Amino acid sequence: MGLVTLEEVMKIHDGAVGAFSTYDLYSAQGIINAAEEKGLPVIAMIGSPVLNKLGNEELGEIMVNLAKKSSAPVCVFLDHSKDLATCIKAIRLGFSAVMIDGSHLSLEENIEVTNKVTEVARGVGVSVEAELGALAGIEDGEEVKNAKMTDPTHVDKFLSSTDVDALAVSIGNAHGLYKGEPKLDFERLQKIADIANVPLVLHGGTGLTVEQFAKGVSMGIKKINIGTEVKKTYIDAFIETSKVNPAAHDMVGIPLACKDAVKEMVKDKLEFFARGYKELL
Ligand SMILES: [Zn+2]
Repeated sequence: MGLVTLEEVMKIHDGAVGAFSTYDLYSAQGIINAAEEKGLPVIAMIGSPVLNKLGNEELGEIMVNLAKKSSAPVCVFLDHSKDLATCIKAIRLGFSAVMIDGSHLSLEENIEVTNKVTEVARGVGVSVEAELGALAGIEDGEEVKNAKMTDPTHVDKFLSSTDVDALAVSIGNAHGLYKGEPKLDFERLQKIADIANVPLVLHGGTGLTVEQFAKGVSMGIKKINIGTEVKKTYIDAFIETSKVNPAAHDMVGIPLACKDAVKEMVKDKLEFFARGYKELL
């Protein structure tokens, strides 16, 4: 199958597609190998602040190359770009989808910056995700202090003034780890879903319950972002494996263990978002 756009990857099955943050070769391989072993589509994301770190353009190229060679459908996705320049960088690297996050701006400014990105992306067949309402928490080192839930009355205006493939919503979901039990405003999600003519995206998937995932998918969520759980799974595997024989400094075995741990986590999520959720409805 290889590299596919966000628009295409969300049409492959009737569940939601897992989107996982990528930080290096091993996390990229773990995420893509999971999709291959499951025979399911996946979205491999890299955050805008991460892609903009020195040397990480090569990681973007690696992600695109792995996707092209994959037997599974893989969307390579730029997560949370606040500017056109980073979107253009990702498009030049061969990414098949970008997110322009104008959620911190006014509705009019968000529409304006989103349209600048879609104008470029449309011309080269790249999908675009936008966001309405800002999420609390820290995403790849960037903190959002003024979270606001998506205002359903803004949805029609935003979607009729833009040409996006997916819309990220803020319904009580947050980046990073939740403090206490996460609460999602499903009434708000339903109102948004009734108006929206594009698939919806749920960020901040780490720590949500299977029941919340199932309900969200049944209401129109087609993409679920998982970032923190990738980092935690990887680092926990690194620490545990290195403890076995610390003096070995096993630069072959330890990263492979990290890759396998990420792969197993991603396989479970892909399966649940695609099929398993139906058992809870
Ligand atoms: Zn996010």
